[in-house]
Parts: sequence; structure tokens; C-alpha cells
Amino acid sequence: MPFAFTSSAPAHRVFIWTIGCQMNRADSERIERQLQSAGHAPARSLGEATAVVVNGCAVRENADRKVWGMLGMLKGMKKTRPHLVVGLTGCTVHAGEDELAPHLAPVDVLFDTLNAEPLLAALARAAPADTDDYADVEARAAPGRGAVSRFVNVIYGCDKRCTYCIVPFRRGAQRSRPLAEIVDEARRCRDEGAREIVLLGQIVNAYGFDLNGARLVDVLAAVDRVEGVERVRFTTAHPRYMTRALAEAMRDIPSVCEEINLPVQSGDDQVLKRMARGYGAGSYRDTIAMLRGTAPGVAVTTDVIVGFCGETEAHFQASLRLVRDLRFDQVHVAAFSPRRGTAAAAWPDDVPQAEKLRRLHVIEQEQTAISEQINRAYVGQAPEVLFEELTAGKGAAAEPRWRGRTRTNKLVFTPDRPGLRPGVTAAVRIGAATPWSLRGAALEGAAA
Ligand code: SF4
Repeated sequence: MPFAFTSSAPAHRVFIWTIGCQMNRADSERIERQLQSAGHAPARSLGEATAVVVNGCAVRENADRKVWGMLGMLKGMKKTRPHLVVGLTGCTVHAGEDELAPHLAPVDVLFDTLNAEPLLAALARAAPADTDDYADVEARAAPGRGAVSRFVNVIYGCDKRCTYCIVPFRRGAQRSRPLAEIVDEARRCRDEGAREIVLLGQIVNAYGFDLNGARLVDVLAAVDRVEGVERVRFTTAHPRYMTRALAEAMRDIPSVCEEINLPVQSGDDQVLKRMARGYGAGSYRDTIAMLRGTAPGVAVTTDVIVGFCGETEAHFQASLRLVRDLRFDQVHVAAFSPRRGTAAAAWPDDVPQAEKLRRLHVIEQEQTAISEQINRAYVGQAPEVLFEELTAGKGAAAEPRWRGRTRTNKLVFTPDRPGLRPGVTAAVRIGAATPWSLRGAALEGAAA
């Protein structure tokens, strides 16, 4: 049941601090909407906030450290602002008690991202620290509102047990959202200015396995029918559940973009087995061939972990070979770091840190050259770009420039010109490419 506020309930200015993946960002946007429906307003900074929500991430040790650092800072702030209400949510709240306890001093309320009622109740109980008139704050748009590209969670949790991953322990079992709810949220994002919807899940292509009904292709088709939504993307897909039907959806459904992130993690069968990924390097290669054969021009990115427990030089070379052979558009490489509570944390972390970093750099270097070649092929072409925002140019004398993306998710920068605004699509003649982005000029009369 939604929490009901009385008209006399105190209104807070709430600052939401978010770290981690896109799912966390989508959760923060949803919490923000719930706060606004309950009469609270967004705060632009910690300084003007009467309440703070920390939406934490536990996937990497580094993220944990940042969350603990933020809570340490809030503990200091509460010495001079004792009425500041602090809420903690995200994967962090599902950490073990011994891990959490040393950091909880400033926290007034712990809550699950899917249930903000404890937060709303805590805010209702606590009067804001000051009673300044902040109508101007209320009038301002929430961070997510008006954004051209918006995240919509379609499935929560994960039923797999990759041996290095903490997510299933923190996010629980797989739960798909009802299709109607997803479409409603996509419509609301469209009404707030979105032109692109990114459907999110830890394994987004496992959507519906727990519902015994619709699958991800049905969600894609339904969101495609939302008038005004020009582009639909989905992430992150699991190679094991990559079907021909999904590849056909990328080819045939007009708004579904030709772009996919399909994490491989390793190019070696033994390592993949120890990671419990549920596929081998050969079947992964077959999947990529099917994908490219079915949806020509699709951009494929992947994730690779180097230095996993027991990874030998030969295992690493298999990953490097796979990256070379499959020529991804981008590769996100991470050096393995054990997460407490996972199976791999009990195994010897036997690749020295310096060696992990060497392997990471070797793959990065290899991929940088591949990405540059792929991006150079855009020079002279005029792909359709969806513009997101006007950004400050680099260097003292630099002019502001527009940032946008192609359907294949290539970042494009272009000089300002009349007609360009957030949400506009226009063909851009590409004049230059780097491994990370493209530059070009929007064609006259092309803005729509
Ligand atoms: S599929 Fe594996 S890596 Fe991805 S969230 Fe689930 S357990 Fe973690």
C-alpha cells in the first residue's frame, strides 16, 4: 500500500547520492519520484539537503569503500546538523551485519530499493532541519526528468551464481516486473521528455522466466509501440539466453537499436567453468556469429575479467585471442578482486596485482586499436544521432558542443547549430574518429 502523507507532513529537501550500475540510477530515479509524490523536493547539493539517501553498490570493493567514505562524511555533518535524516539503500544494505555495523552511526533508516516506505515514514516523523521557503526547489525538475535517455528496470535480482559475483546475495532472486507496469513507466518517461528507453536487468534477457508469460522480445515490442519513444535498448544480456528471436527483434523492431552488451568474462573454458558462467568459449563465439548473421551491423560490447583465481598465462592468452578474433566495439576490462561471501573469495587469489594490471593493459591496448578501426569506418558516413545535451567544449577557447549517440551507441560530438536541442535526431556527417567517440557536423535541415 502506498504510504499516505497528510497535508501537514513536513516536506524535506532530499539529496540522493548514487553509486554503481545503471540499475542503481534507475532505482534512485524511482525513489525520487516516490519522494516527490509524497511532497518532498529534490536538493541540488548536500549543503541544501535536509535529508540524504545513499544508494550504495557492493559489486566492487572500491564501490564499498566509497559508500563507507560517504557515510563517514555524513557522520561528520551530523555533528553540526543533527536533524539531517540519512537513509541507506541499494546492495549495501544486504551486506552482513559485521560488515555494515561499523558504518551505521549516521544512518537513521535502512530500506530496500523496492520499498521506500521506511524512508517515507522516517521523513514524515522528522521535521526538516530548517524551514526556509524553498518553493524554487520544488519547482525545479528532478534529476531524471527531462533526460533524453531514461533507464527502466524490467527485472530485479539474479538466479545465477557466478562464483565471483556478489549481486545475487545482495539483490536476491530474479523478479520480473509486470509488462503493463514497464510500459506505464516508459510512457511516464516519454511524457517527461525521454526519447530513448534503456531496459535494465542483471540478466535482462531472462525477463519473464519467473512469470511464465511474456519474454524480453514482448517487452521490446510493447515499448516500441509507445508513441514518441524513438529508441529502445536493453542491458545486460547473458550469453546463455541470447536467442535468435532477440537478434531478430534488433533487426526488425524499428525502435530497437542495433547494439548489445554481452559479457564473456573469459576466453578460456576452464576459467569459464570455475566462474560458473554456464557456457564455453566456443558457444560464445557461435552466439556472436548468430547475432551478426541475423542483425547485420549490430555493435557488440563485452566485459572481461583478468586475473581470476588460477588464471594462467595460457588462460589469459585465450581471452586475448577471443578479443582479437571477435573484434568487439568496446571491451570493459576489470582486474579480479574477491568479494566477501562469494565462492571465489574462498579460493587463492593467486595472480599478483601487478600481473593483473599488466593483463588488463594488454587487453585495453589491443581493444583500443580495434575500436579505433571500427570507429574510423564511420568517417564519411552520416548516421542518425539522437542529441542529449550541449556540453562545454574542452580547452579555454573551445566552443560548446552537442553530445549525442548513434543507434549503435557511438558517442558523437558536433558543433552547435540552430535546430539542435535535447531529444532531436539528425544525420551527422562524421569527419573524425577516436577509439571512444566520433566528431562531425549535423546536416542542414536534418534535425527532426
Ligand atoms: S549473471 Fe552472474 S555476474 Fe551477472 S549478476 Fe548474475 S551472478 Fe552476477
